[in-house]
Amino acid sequence: MSSTPPGYHGRFLRVDLSARTAVAVPISGEVLRRFVGGSGLGTWILLQESRDGFDPLAAEAPLLFVFSPLVGSPLTTSAKFVVMGKSPLTQRINDSLSSSHFAIAGKKTGYDALVIVGAAEEPTCLVIEPESVRYEPAQAAWGLSSSAASETLSQQLGQGFRFAAIGPAGENLVRYATISHDGRHAGRGGMGAVMGAKNLKAVAVRGDRLTPFHDAEGLVALSKTLSKKSFGPATAKYRELGTAGNLLAFNRLAVLPTRNFQTSTFEGAATLAPEAMAVSHERTRASCAACTIGCEHIYHRHDNQAGVRMEYENLFALGPLCGIADPEAVLAASALCDELGMDTISAGATIAFAMECAERGFLKAADLRFGNSAAVLSMLKQIGARQDLGDLLAEGSRIAAARIGQNTSDFAPHVKGLELPGYEPRALQTMALGFAVGTRGADHNRSGAYEVDFSAQYDRLHAGPEVVAPAIETEDRAALMDSLILCKFLRGVLVDYHEELAEMLNLITGFGVTAAELRTTAQRIVTAKKLYNIRQGWTPAEDTLPARFLSDPLPEDSGPSGGANLSPTQLSELVAAYNLGRGWDRDGWIPASRLQELEAE
Ligand code: SF4
Repeated sequence: MSSTPPGYHGRFLRVDLSARTAVAVPISGEVLRRFVGGSGLGTWILLQESRDGFDPLAAEAPLLFVFSPLVGSPLTTSAKFVVMGKSPLTQRINDSLSSSHFAIAGKKTGYDALVIVGAAEEPTCLVIEPESVRYEPAQAAWGLSSSAASETLSQQLGQGFRFAAIGPAGENLVRYATISHDGRHAGRGGMGAVMGAKNLKAVAVRGDRLTPFHDAEGLVALSKTLSKKSFGPATAKYRELGTAGNLLAFNRLAVLPTRNFQTSTFEGAATLAPEAMAVSHERTRASCAACTIGCEHIYHRHDNQAGVRMEYENLFALGPLCGIADPEAVLAASALCDELGMDTISAGATIAFAMECAERGFLKAADLRFGNSAAVLSMLKQIGARQDLGDLLAEGSRIAAARIGQNTSDFAPHVKGLELPGYEPRALQTMALGFAVGTRGADHNRSGAYEVDFSAQYDRLHAGPEVVAPAIETEDRAALMDSLILCKFLRGVLVDYHEELAEMLNLITGFGVTAAELRTTAQRIVTAKKLYNIRQGWTPAEDTLPARFLSDPLPEDSGPSGGANLSPTQLSELVAAYNLGRGWDRDGWIPASRLQELEAE
């Protein structure tokens, strides 16, 4: 396939900030079909553009913004893009997805991806339009939050641009700094620090280059049907309470990580739950660009500050995980993370880890105690500015534990350096497998293995080989969604998953892919991510969980999860079965024949 398929521009833009050069690099139709877009295409580009073993904060590190064939289409939830690179937190592949008009404007510049290497000599805003690439000074925006910086730069550049920008945490190379745009965040894995290391305050995009659709009429018809279905019962829970609605259910099942994963129920859950906050706080609803579901719930603090988007993950990480039951404090902490530009999960989990260190006498910090919300706010400010203890915690829990020593690594809550999201792995054991093998570390968006745990068919407290195939299936489905790109909250709407995704892709691109081909595509993308990690130094020892989860059962009084226990042997057998199920060897190395079979390079 040589000509560019509909839905694509057939090229990416490589910008070198050091040399101030920009070149368009063609991408063949054959590569686009094999890797689709988003995370898949980004992985292929990273494999081409990376030297083995480089430092993600060095100038040579590639920072990618990747769009997809669906961006700009009328399909609901398709205004998405992915920021990709090597994570400074994990030293492994990272793909951070987000949604906003930046995706639409970015694709209209005439490229399927923007690849940024090099480093600017001074704070810079990279301005990309179809006919030009400019390097605008950004001193006036340096030190500002992402949203304030975008406003300042918008006045400087004029109308019509969309911005992706970092806050002070990215400038200060906090290893879990975010990249923000229109109040949304590419949150996990610290891509904001990669941007900061390049002296790149913001990327501004504007354009008018549209890509055609293979079957525009069919696409409009399908989009209407999908939008209608997206408003049905399968997504009602997201519209009514948002993802924060998980809090009480997780507490009831005793899978709600509390006080740095020491327990799995939280006595303050009822006051933090959205059911209670909807009464105690004014609430409005919002949605990403081009979304008919609208899962965002914005809560307004009592001090009349701007509203804060509340999702399960920031609620759990800055609430129960730190022992905080005060909704105002959690809202203030979330707002501060947004302003500084930091991932709420990693920030909350690293502080929770430090609280346990302080309570057990491994760290001298008198105020750092579970439940002390003033200490959380103060520590977030110190982390964002890399001041005092914040300088250590800005490194994330893995590096902080290594520096504190005294076996604190046993309870630093991360996999491959990425802090765990709000799912207790001892009581959600298929998710434990998903966390352990995740190419970007512990993550609930790349593996949906918790769905297996929550299904009636499997025993979440005693996972055996029977969970491996469905765990792989959730990871493959996520890889497809992240490459097309569509919001995962749509998955409950799709009845025949692969057939329906194939139909969408075919209406746009004319590829004529089958459901079976998409299954292979997903396996290819997951294997390509693993290949990237191997080239960056992955070893089998990384695919595990911290010692706490493999040696300490949950307390016996943890309700329906009481005494839940995951042994090292059980997890390593699950990991081995997973590796074999992927067509890799038992330890996770990829045989050359499997790489060839999947055409994964
Ligand atoms: S469902 Fe929620 S996260 Fe998904 S696109 Fe819509 S608003 Fe965004």
